[in-house]
Amino acid sequence: MTLPSVIIVGAGFGGLGAAIECANRGMNVRVYEKYPDSNSHGDILDIFPNAGRIIKRWNDGKVGQEIHDTGCSKIRSMDIYKYDGKFLASTSWAENDEFHDITYAGHRGKLHSIILAYAKTLVPEIHIGLGVQKYLENDTQAGVVLSNGETVWADCVIAADGARSIAREQVLGINDSDDNETSWAVFRTFLSTDEAARKKLAAHGLLSTNDDLVRFWMSDTLYLMAFSWNKGKDIAWTLTHPDDKASSEGWTRSSIADREHLAQWMKDFTTEDAQVLLDITPQGRTINFKLVYRPTIEKWTSKGGRTILIGDAAHANLPTAGQGASQALEDAATVAYCLAKGDGDVRLALEATQRIRYHRSNAVHKSGGINRDVVKKTPWDEIEADPKGFVERRWAKMRPWDPLAFAEEHFPKVAEDIAKGVQGHPDVVSVPPPPGGYWYS
Ligand SMILES: Cc1cc2nc3c(=O)[nH]c(=O)nc-3n(C[C@H](O)[C@H](O)[C@H](O)COP(=O)(O)OP(=O)(O)OC[C@H]3O[C@@H](n4cnc5c(N)ncnc54)[C@H](O)[C@@H]3O)c2cc1C
Repeated sequence: MTLPSVIIVGAGFGGLGAAIECANRGMNVRVYEKYPDSNSHGDILDIFPNAGRIIKRWNDGKVGQEIHDTGCSKIRSMDIYKYDGKFLASTSWAENDEFHDITYAGHRGKLHSIILAYAKTLVPEIHIGLGVQKYLENDTQAGVVLSNGETVWADCVIAADGARSIAREQVLGINDSDDNETSWAVFRTFLSTDEAARKKLAAHGLLSTNDDLVRFWMSDTLYLMAFSWNKGKDIAWTLTHPDDKASSEGWTRSSIADREHLAQWMKDFTTEDAQVLLDITPQGRTINFKLVYRPTIEKWTSKGGRTILIGDAAHANLPTAGQGASQALEDAATVAYCLAKGDGDVRLALEATQRIRYHRSNAVHKSGGINRDVVKKTPWDEIEADPKGFVERRWAKMRPWDPLAFAEEHFPKVAEDIAKGVQGHPDVVSVPPPPGGYWYS
């Protein structure tokens, strides 16, 4: 079997996932990440069982266990409330109870540092703080120009450079429009609490010494979500609101929200729980993150076929899909599998990756918009009549999914099609959704 050499751009969850999966299959991998330290940024990040299965396989389950040990692993259900604190219904957090072990959540930086540490044991060349400025490709190789001026080449390039990927323009010729704002933004907070804050949280049932918690409150047009873990020592909360003042799409505290601004929107939630969250949050801990809509694209691979975009670079999801990191990891496992099976035919392997992932990734992308719209104007009549039914529809559960098993099942036929020259619109040539679709209806 001939294994290709791989350059990966970006060491987010997609890039690191691809590095681990490719290295575990014996490929020579180099990773370039422009940001010097991704660890301190971000707040809560969820990885659901469809991608949790991938993590569980790493280092005999030790990577997953480490995430569980430090993260928000003991959530069993999400409780949903009205803005005034009236309880509406609960819904299971994982698809079902069997899957808690492969459902991961926690501070994004912590999860990232655990996965990065594991990737470093497999891939000697992970260059943090060395960005890519230019993507290159010729008939026999793909490469990148680095920020230090050096040019490096490999058999293929995986561009996992995130939602504001430069590969979109350079490799695919996509000019992302500036008018794709959703007119919504999210206040996002992560904080480690002190004793006094924990007392307040405990007094309002927002802290449990046994379990981790996630709560969700709805007003007429807004929603507030809070996570509490490590016995309330770690808290994250988000409030989705109309984008009324300067927000920005950045995780680097470039857009700190001031408390008065926060308080103005928090007023929609008359429950004391909301006031507690606000009270324990010091100035400077909340960012105002702009929600940007990025439509799906038809082609993930370069004209020459040696470069592929994965993760947010290929299909940035709205946070309401809850699947950003999970979909990036599904891409990562799929591309590594196809590259290993391609036996040196990199173009075939990358095209096969897109064909295997395309429909599923688009369906997940669409679900972000659907979930967002459900709470655009909260349907109180429907909720009052049947709170449990509403909650089950709004948080529809994904059917169990193993991206690696899916790739194993479909690669032979997809590869045969590509080798035979079967071409066409990706809607037609890609692996169709399974009977019954991806979600329980
Ligand atoms: C700092 C940060 C904090 C985040 N915090 C959260 C969070 O709290 N909750 C949440 O749900 N999602 C968060 N996200 C988004 C989430 O990680 C992604 O949506 C998801 O994991 C998809 O992963 P990805 O690898 O495709 O993209 P990302 O995780 O965004 O990773 C892309 C990586 O590529 C790097 N990169 C970009 N351009 C270049 C270049 N030219 N050269 C080299 N490297 C480049 C970026 O620095 C980044 O590390 C965050 C993303 C970042 C970058």
